[in-house]
Amino acid sequence: MSLTEIRDKVAKQEAASARAAGSTTLIAVSKVQPNERVQAILDEGHRVFGENRVQEAAGKWPAFRERYDGIELHLIGPLQTNKARQAMELAQAIHTLDRPKLAKTMARLAQELGTCPDLFVQVNTGEETQKAGVLPADADGFIQESLAMDLPVRGLMCIPPVDEEPSLHFALLAKIAARNGLKGLSMGMSSDFERAIALGATHIRVGSAIFGERVAT
Ligand SMILES: *Cc1c(COP(=O)(O)O)cnc(C)c1O
Repeated sequence: MSLTEIRDKVAKQEAASARAAGSTTLIAVSKVQPNERVQAILDEGHRVFGENRVQEAAGKWPAFRERYDGIELHLIGPLQTNKARQAMELAQAIHTLDRPKLAKTMARLAQELGTCPDLFVQVNTGEETQKAGVLPADADGFIQESLAMDLPVRGLMCIPPVDEEPSLHFALLAKIAARNGLKGLSMGMSSDFERAIALGATHIRVGSAIFGERVAT
């Protein structure tokens, strides 16, 4: 799908869901994509991108930033505590705050750096053992604990189990966000972003639908 087609689908779904036009941020997930493809999307005027790995992002985006203004980088992959500083210096948003140790480290670094990216707490809505994120039952406590550390928690993020209807997970995430007074909802990928918008997504993370299948690394 072209970027224009995706933007079109986003706009149609916003209208169908009685949502304000432009209330969904499209994050183009560029992990493992060749630089020419990323550049093509930049040349089409898109500026909001998502990366999974700090290392890969650090290798790729400083050079693009020298050539294009206004790039907004979102880190959406699991974050090791020892990479937190680099992540915070590189990204405008981090979607994978998921444990007290990371929250404490980020709070300390935020003091030191005098700034902090927008944060999303990842919730493991499917309670999958192999997946990152706080369990739904622990979410309220962790969100409030993070806010109490003055961390700029803007919303929640989830990755539904592959074999389940994502809408149930999107609805659960929206419910947890609402009762904690959070407005941001990072949910929806290539295969389900329209359903996510219908359930209130403010940030959709779309990779393969924009760039084509990821080349195996
Ligand atoms: C890779 C990735 C995406 C994008 O997935 P697509 O199915 O290619 O759209 C979204 N969110 C996260 C966390 C990812 O790792």
